[in-house]
Parts: sequence; C-alpha cells; structure tokens
Amino acid sequence: MACSAKLKRTRFAPSPTGPLHLGHAMAAIVAFERADPGEFLLRIEDLDQSRARPHWEAQIYDDLAWLGLGWQTPVIRQSERLNIYAQAIDKLSELGLTYHCSCTRADIRAALAAPQEGAPILGPDGLVYPGTCRGKTSGDTIRLDMARALDHLKGRTLSFEESGTQAGYYTATEDWLLTHCGDVVLSRKDMGAAYHLAVVIDDAAQGITEVTRGEDLFEATFIHVLVQALLELPTPQYHHHRLVRDEAGKRLAKRDDARAIATYRAEGASPADIRKMIGF
Ligand code: GLU
Repeated sequence: MACSAKLKRTRFAPSPTGPLHLGHAMAAIVAFERADPGEFLLRIEDLDQSRARPHWEAQIYDDLAWLGLGWQTPVIRQSERLNIYAQAIDKLSELGLTYHCSCTRADIRAALAAPQEGAPILGPDGLVYPGTCRGKTSGDTIRLDMARALDHLKGRTLSFEESGTQAGYYTATEDWLLTHCGDVVLSRKDMGAAYHLAVVIDDAAQGITEVTRGEDLFEATFIHVLVQALLELPTPQYHHHRLVRDEAGKRLAKRDDARAIATYRAEGASPADIRKMIGF
C-alpha cells in the first residue's frame, strides 16, 4: 500500500452515552463527506464507563447505517486501549512532565477563590488548575506539568491548519497554553485516560489526516497539538464545523432526546429530512 499515506481519512468519534442527535448527524455527515474519496472511520469514545452502554453503541451503528454513512472496519473502542494510553503517560512521566493530583473539583474551586488567584479562567480543559499538587507523586489524577512540557519543547512551533468555520493557520503560544490550559488532566482514576490524551493517540493510530468535529472543540486543538509534539505524533489537518442549535440558539446535548435521530426515525423522517433539518 505505497500510496496509503496520501489517502484522506476522517473519523466520527461519538460517545455511547445517549442517543445520537442532530448535532451528531452533522458531525458524522461532515466527516463522511470530507473523506470522499478517501476513508471514513469510526471510533467509539467509551472511556467514561459509568455512562457508556452497549445499547447506545448499537444505536450508533444503526443510525449511521440508516443515514447511509458506511464506515471502514475495524472500529476502535477506547475502553480496549487503556494500556496504550498508560504507556504514553509513562513516557511523559519518564520525561518528568507529569505529576499526581488528589484535588477534588471543590478543592480546585476553593483554591481558585483565594484572593491572590485573580479571576478563574475557564479554558478548553475546564477551570485552569492552580497547581496545588505540582510535584506530587501520589493521587489518582495525573496532570501534565505545562511549564515543564513547554520547556521540553522549547523552540518548537505548535501549529495546525484549520479549514472549517475559522479557517486559517494557528499557532499555540506558550503564554496562551499556560494561562488558558495550564496543567491539563491526562488521566483520572475512574477514566483510564483523559479525552485530550486519548483523542491524539487514537487519531494518530487510525491514520486520520483530517479531524472533523464541532467548533466547540476548536480551542482544545491547541492542547492536542502540544500533546502530539510531546508524544512525537503527527498533527493532522483540522476542520471544525458549525454546531446544530435549538430554537433558543442553544447547542444540542445528549439529554435532548426529543431531537434524537431515533425519535425522528420513529416518527417517519427520512435521511434526506435529517439532512434538511441540519441545513445540508
Ligand atoms: N467524543 C467526542 C464528542 O462526542 C469527540 C470529540 C472529537 O471529535 O474529537 O464530542
């Protein structure tokens, strides 16, 4: 397969924690159409085993097939790849770029409320961690020490090309990563690996050449290019698409069962109707 490196490859990466809704239909259709004439892959992001359910995974396959979006096999399931994520964390730890943390969300909120902290910043990994546990070697959460990680990559340009709603060429600056991302979580006790780590490893493992996903994840890409550089993985191209919103302009969420593809199917809608509803 001498030319396989050139083949365009996209993916749809849903979590089987509820029914696919119109927002997922948008993500899946964009990925499918942008793969053409390449390959469209599927990844089941079931790291949160407390919420993932086999019947939701079965519904994903059923809805995608009904929409006419055929995918390549094998399908990757993140819950079966925990050892791969653990190896990556070990590699970062050996480089001295991680530490353990035992803070609860409440601890973090309390620490950020201290007067010397200034206004807390909400970045793509949530509230920016104040570094309370920095240097610790025990605790169930493993964090990336951002300052050390940036030091390790000194001189490297962390950039990506975006062709979606905010098309352009972007570079993650040290300053922005420190202030808006900070010491991001790499793994938690209840979830072998955090999204930012698993997504980067899996996109590389699946040979994804263009990551397509909703524009709510645009800023997270700055963390992803950093993790790619640390793990010496390639940076794919990115295409963040517009989100499907409800009448009030709010982004659809899993709990919006009324907008589940399965509900529309049961009411007699066709795949063409779904495409029309999301503006295709
Ligand atoms: N499982 C993630 C989601 O459903 C996928 C994010 C991504 O495509 O990178 O939002």
